[in-house]
Amino acid sequence: MIKNVRRRQMVKARQQELARAMAKRRPAMELALALFIPAGMCVLFFYIFQGPEPNMQPDPIKTYESSLNAETRALLRECPQSDGFDFPVGKPDAKEYFDMRPFGVKNHLGADWNRGFRDDDLGDPVYSVSKGIVSFTGNLGGDWGRIVRVIHRVDEDEYVESLYAHLRDIYVKQGDLVGRGQKVGTIGNNDGRERAHLHFEIRSRVGMPVGPGYSEDTSGYLNPTPFIQRNRSNP
Ligand SMILES: [Zn+2]
Repeated sequence: MIKNVRRRQMVKARQQELARAMAKRRPAMELALALFIPAGMCVLFFYIFQGPEPNMQPDPIKTYESSLNAETRALLRECPQSDGFDFPVGKPDAKEYFDMRPFGVKNHLGADWNRGFRDDDLGDPVYSVSKGIVSFTGNLGGDWGRIVRVIHRVDEDEYVESLYAHLRDIYVKQGDLVGRGQKVGTIGNNDGRERAHLHFEIRSRVGMPVGPGYSEDTSGYLNPTPFIQRNRSNP
């Protein structure tokens, strides 16, 4: 008998405990519902009433480039046809220079051009690898420092973008038309953060973010040296 009473008391206490727990949880659930229902309705409203589709003009630029911002698209339209490619140092054949960290080594996305050791090449000229239009110049700091980017038209609607990093000086600005072998800057050491060298990339996809410099994922990047060797002259 006593046992039964105690059991009933225990069951009752457990039920009260559960009720208290539920009561605690309820405001949180109510808050979640109060937030989610209007948010869901907003999404539905915009989905239904977003209006007519914008007038889609046919674009000569390939599909991935339709995601580019208006500024980059304007640069593409002004971009001259490439007349072939040279190396970015030791014009035109990278004479006296060596690639200390070729593309793909330790997931490197570029080539590291050096002459001599330590800072021997600090201040050496850096050349645009081909005719093109400057798409970006600036000091990004961090692992990048001063960079120049140039877009080159390699075919009717096919472009590549070259990138020159850790520069000491920059001699061009966004929108400048540059020639093959034109001096765009000088080799730097990223303001003393590393030994002087040129980190050089060629991208098959223009307008990408500056990127990580190293990655297993090489989509959008080309191995720059074989690309230049294949394209010394562009008919
Ligand atoms: Zn590098």
